[in-house]
Amino acid sequence: MKLIRCTNCDEVFLQTPYDQWPEYETPSDVSSEVLRAVEKDDFQTFLRNHRGHLIEDLRVLEDSYVSDKPYSEPVKASYFRASNGKETFVIKKSRHNISEPLKYEVIAGDYSLRCVSIEVQSKEIEKQLKAEFVEAPCSEREVEDFIELFRRVARIADIRKLDRVAEDSTHPLEIYYKLDDTSLIYLHRNCRRIFKDKQHSRIADFIERHKEDGVLLLKATYQIQITQMARSREDSIPSSVGFRRKKLAVQ
Ligand SMILES: [Zn+2]
Repeated sequence: MKLIRCTNCDEVFLQTPYDQWPEYETPSDVSSEVLRAVEKDDFQTFLRNHRGHLIEDLRVLEDSYVSDKPYSEPVKASYFRASNGKETFVIKKSRHNISEPLKYEVIAGDYSLRCVSIEVQSKEIEKQLKAEFVEAPCSEREVEDFIELFRRVARIADIRKLDRVAEDSTHPLEIYYKLDDTSLIYLHRNCRRIFKDKQHSRIADFIERHKEDGVLLLKATYQIQITQMARSREDSIPSSVGFRRKKLAVQ
């Protein structure tokens, strides 16, 4: 994928691999052939609209993608950053209904992510404890106390210092973290008060088994904050709900 920007108009176009297929290559099925033709036409239209303008290539910055909807949701707005080597641009990718093509535009402003909640996976922990402790089940009280203790650990932990887990999250704003050593020590130590003897060593093993993935990960939810700024070529920006506007000196 290649992103192209017209420097005169501040408009972008995403060139898909379909545009770059060599002429002699036969598309494997009709639908991709049709798609290729459409993409090609779109690209020709973009070039025609910006004839005589200065066009540049942008490189999409890795890991800059954010969206407030699941990856699988086709109708949404998402944002990413792209650079021409000197300047970084924020690109908004959106469509309002499924039949529309995706629209790419340069937005004046920037985005950042704010952590709005850190949750423990209490239901999953409870289920897992029940499934694994068949011969010597935990009492309701032990399960409750363990989850409560785990919540306390989550409250104390500093999310910025935790390692992110490369988990297949279906939502770009839900990120899983594993506990650091300090939190694990705290968890282990306080388990002694809840579980006795053999049950305590079983729960210690349980923690070891699930600390790297699954039920003992902390789930953090983020929110996208967008800061709109006035760019030199724009006189006015429609203000959207929830957008914070900031004036910049016109260059
Ligand atoms: Zn142009």
